[in-house]
Amino acid sequence: MSTILTTKTVLLTAAVCVAAAAALQGADHAFKWKVHDMDRPAPAQVTPGDYCSHGAPSDATVLFAGSSTENLVRFGTDQPILWKVEGNELVVAQGGGDIATRESFGDCQLHVEWMVPADRECKGQAGCNSGVFFMSQYEVQIVQSLDNRTYSDGTAGSLYGQHPPMVNPCTPKGEWNAYDIVFRAPHFNADGSVARAATVTVFFNGVLVQDNTAILGSTAHMQRAKYTQHADRLPIKFQDHGDPLRFRNMWVREIGPQPMAQ
Ligand code: MG
Repeated sequence: MSTILTTKTVLLTAAVCVAAAAALQGADHAFKWKVHDMDRPAPAQVTPGDYCSHGAPSDATVLFAGSSTENLVRFGTDQPILWKVEGNELVVAQGGGDIATRESFGDCQLHVEWMVPADRECKGQAGCNSGVFFMSQYEVQIVQSLDNRTYSDGTAGSLYGQHPPMVNPCTPKGEWNAYDIVFRAPHFNADGSVARAATVTVFFNGVLVQDNTAILGSTAHMQRAKYTQHADRLPIKFQDHGDPLRFRNMWVREIGPQPMAQ
């Protein structure tokens, strides 16, 4: 009895294996590369930066590392920025206007550190506000968020007006904060409708606060965001909200498409 069952089991298992192999063979046609394909290009070798000090990796575009601002421009122009370099830090110059990356980016990884001066008075959105606008229009909010209550979808690490951060790891005024952000650009159909929403993943001081969050549309104030078709790549904008926030260690890396989108 047990021998018959064992034989049947072996035959059944073999049949399943053959079917699975056939299915895999068929499914393989849908992929550009075979499993373990040695012809598949090796990932580019990158020397990591000093993670503790958030230095830029070797393939990053450095936006600000303490002195040069040549990879930044006054937003909407190709002119030098009016923000000030003070002691290896970049300071928002009130009235200096927004700044932006000289290059345009779609899918990217951004690192930026920011600080609100210790003596700055913050009241909700007023006094201690800036922001990172991917593609010049999708804002990850920067605002002092410890001991400064504001609406949750406008606190630090929020997708402004859309999604609050999962938690609030903001430091006290006078101490640095760090954002590590993965941004995925939206895809549009030929008729301008959205084929795939933009997404954002945000680590705020090393803590996950946005997890592949779908962006609802271009950042808007007191109104529901919606998409308007735009170019595949656009500059990243940093906001002059009239407050003297300080920045350091700013860099960005282009990233390729997600594997399943290839
Ligand atoms: Mg802002």
